[in-house]
Amino acid sequence: MGAVLTREQRRAENEAVFRAGNEAMVRNVGDVPTLPLICECGSADCFDRIHVTPEEYQAVRAHPARFVLATGHEDANEAVIDEFDRYSVIEKTGEGRAILEEQSQ
Ligand SMILES: [Zn+2]
Repeated sequence: MGAVLTREQRRAENEAVFRAGNEAMVRNVGDVPTLPLICECGSADCFDRIHVTPEEYQAVRAHPARFVLATGHEDANEAVIDEFDRYSVIEKTGEGRAILEEQSQ
């Protein structure tokens, strides 16, 4: 592994960590109306909570390159798929997406 990560690499790694945490929560909380998830924006100092229903989360996770973010936390190189009052759905593009696809192999 290289010693110096680009900003985009760091963000992609953080997103993967937050998503893993959220997936564990989804498995563990059982039957609840909304999941108290962590914003997956990948910023190291963001611990915002977003509340989505299990169905909403599953719909996002059906796409490997999509993440749930607090509204307004989108990055310039992420495509905004959906924007709601409570959260935004983004799709990784460019280098971040390449990193993501590497990780999922
Ligand atoms: Zn965030």
